Amino acid sequence: IICNKEDVIKAIETNNVKFIRLQFTDIQGVVKDVEIPVTQIEKALTTGISFDGSSIEGFVRIDESDMVLKPDIKTFAILPWSKDKGGVARIICDIEMPDGSQFKADPRYVLKKVMKEAEKMGFSLNVGPELEFFLFEKVDGKATTIPHDYGTYFEFAPTDLAEDIRREIVLTLTDLNFDIEASHHEVAFGQHEIDFKYGDALTTADNVMTFKYVTRTIAKLHGLHATFMPKPIASENGSGMHVNLSLSKGEENAFYDPDGEMEISDTTKQFIAGVLKHIKAISCISNPLVNSYKRLIPGYEAPVYITWSGANRSSLIRIPSARGKSTRVELRSPDPSCNPYLTFAAILAAGLDGIKNKIDPGKMMDYNVFDLTKQERVERGIETLPSTINESADYLEKNELLKETLGAHVHDNILRIARAEWDAYRTQVHDWEIQRYLNTI
Ligand code: GLN
Ligand code: MG
Ligand code: MG
Ligand code: MG
Repeated sequence: IICNKEDVIKAIETNNVKFIRLQFTDIQGVVKDVEIPVTQIEKALTTGISFDGSSIEGFVRIDESDMVLKPDIKTFAILPWSKDKGGVARIICDIEMPDGSQFKADPRYVLKKVMKEAEKMGFSLNVGPELEFFLFEKVDGKATTIPHDYGTYFEFAPTDLAEDIRREIVLTLTDLNFDIEASHHEVAFGQHEIDFKYGDALTTADNVMTFKYVTRTIAKLHGLHATFMPKPIASENGSGMHVNLSLSKGEENAFYDPDGEMEISDTTKQFIAGVLKHIKAISCISNPLVNSYKRLIPGYEAPVYITWSGANRSSLIRIPSARGKSTRVELRSPDPSCNPYLTFAAILAAGLDGIKNKIDPGKMMDYNVFDLTKQERVERGIETLPSTINESADYLEKNELLKETLGAHVHDNILRIARAEWDAYRTQVHDWEIQRYLNTI
């Protein structure tokens, strides 16, 4: 475990590290990095490394472009696949302005700010994500949507060709200090899931970013393409990133109450209520692509209706059966294309809002919501998730809590990016339209 500058220097020497990649995440959830030769490490760890923030989407204007990367020492890790070539290490960084103040639009900063607010209420958020992804064939070096194997849910070799690759992803992640809990083939051809142990929100968000590029890298080393695109194939399940959420209060799990109904606490219900209240606006962050909304339709194990339930997987939020320390709620709408820092920040802020205002989540739906008719849903007051990125942008635009949580800068930029994404999409003429109309109209 790396705790201070000396530990970093020592790890660099013993592992013959030659380069260090300083990483951060932009507003859209894309990892950016600057590689420095090891000779610069002293400077990086003391004054930080300057970079031009104006070329990063959603960061700053040209006239305020000098920013500084400040390595977070605890995130130092050697990239396992680089070992034989003289090591390469990475450190995840915070972003500062030249005057040493925090850059307010740094997604890590946004998350830390909400975590501090939770702390003031005595809580700390734990997150355990379940990332799904596809492995596709490459043809002539180009990614396709041809699945790499024709296995299906929990399939094992020999149909599950991907077993070796998945195992290598797991081993690589383990080298990077991940505690892997399970890995399995998912429902769709070529689709997989790897689950790692929950942690505090910041560590988990860092881990999600690492997970994605490790998976892409290992796939690439095998001549395959890994994608976290939410819905690459229309007629198959998409890829979600379910998040298992709980709040710790000191040593206790604040979601567990042995005397409560279903053995869950009032805090849990209020947290759920807050998330349900804000979920339409959260969707703009947790489901940020045009493509995200093609996953959120009936028939593919993805949520559509804004409900919560005991264990029924048709709900947006369900409460897995484990109790005691493992009591948690599972939110099923986020997908792996999201920025995990901003997504966890938004979820936490919403949950805390529920607790502060003692909001009531309404009745649980312990039946398959998809079996209800539209009329029955209306009678029960069941609402639907936004069906496009444009619609969720409308909700985010109006949402004061999330505006406050994200800060005006991030809020504005997310909206600008969402609207631009939608405009780019709606101004195209798609193949579907040609097929549908060209000959009949
Ligand atoms: N792939 C599904 C989704 O889009 C989830 C399937 C599952 O994990 N049971 O969320
Ligand atoms: Mg799972
Ligand atoms: Mg799954
Ligand atoms: Mg799940």
